[in-house]
Amino acid sequence: MTPTIRPTTKVVGLIGHPIEHSFSPLIQNAAFEESGLDFIYLPFDVHPKNLKDSIRGLVALNIAGFNVTIPHKEHVLELLDELSPEARVIGAVNTIVNDGFKLRGYNTDALGFLACLKPFSDRIRGETAAVLGAGGAARGVLYGLITEFKPKQIYLLNRHLERAESLRIYLQKTFSFNAITTLELFEPNALDSLANSRLIVNTTPAGMYPNEEDSPIVMDKTLSDGQIIMDLVYNPPETKLMRMAEGKGATVVGGSEMLLQQAAKSFELWTGLPMSVEKVRSVLIHGMHAVSMRG
Ligand code: NAP
Repeated sequence: MTPTIRPTTKVVGLIGHPIEHSFSPLIQNAAFEESGLDFIYLPFDVHPKNLKDSIRGLVALNIAGFNVTIPHKEHVLELLDELSPEARVIGAVNTIVNDGFKLRGYNTDALGFLACLKPFSDRIRGETAAVLGAGGAARGVLYGLITEFKPKQIYLLNRHLERAESLRIYLQKTFSFNAITTLELFEPNALDSLANSRLIVNTTPAGMYPNEEDSPIVMDKTLSDGQIIMDLVYNPPETKLMRMAEGKGATVVGGSEMLLQQAAKSFELWTGLPMSVEKVRSVLIHGMHAVSMRG
């Protein structure tokens, strides 16, 4: 249904490049409609060379807030007035609130990640975890893991070992967390670390549309029924890794749930109200299904 736009309607949105595959407009507009709030969420395709001007323009137009996605999550930091403690430590912002022309930056990815794993806290806390990938999403995941679940050991696996190594050094310095071992993803010596991890989180895009036949883990013998496998990829909603893990009887958490949970935290920051997560989840699943049917 087309939303009614009034002179009082508050505008929030998304900046990123490209953004045509984003599900955030679907999620947030469904949430506004469900709650009856006079808000609208708009997508803005912002090329990196226009980032500064776009933000200046959005503030001048008194936008209520916006999400930030690839490739601006890190570059946007220097354009903000304040950062939440987690955004500062993670070094990336995905949600901005315009508070009387002062821009406050938050990172709800880490909170969304934690909300997804909350039901499994007892199985994860103090255990061994493996994180695949060492990019922006991995930073939020590692922040959440270390601060909330205090694992006894983290294996950090990445295609390029140097990137994992510099993240390990950063985490060691920032959190005084020393139990991190870095390994090269896809190398045979990484297999034992995966098999020995209670939780495995994929933060790489391996398996994402249009490369659905890819997987960050190629041998299903490293997966077993006592494990929790979380894949941040949400397009397709069920990845090859998730199917492999299900086949082994593992507990599987897909990326669409984190997408929803991080969006719920953004909604709360803009409106001061909780999102109707159950209702919005069914809109999201329906929307994702429609997209995957179109191919
Ligand atoms: P990023 O900063 O570009 O980092 C990508 C990471 O994945 C790097 O460590 C890179 O390794 C690795 N990588 C890239 N392609 C790979 C491949 N084909 N095989 C194995 N490793 C590969 O990206 P990001 O922001 O962290 O995002 C990563 C993924 O997380 C994306 O799919 C994104 O959609 C998803 N994500 C989901 C949510 C959610 O709410 N569900 C939230 C945030 C992100 P190298 O260093 O070796 O290049």
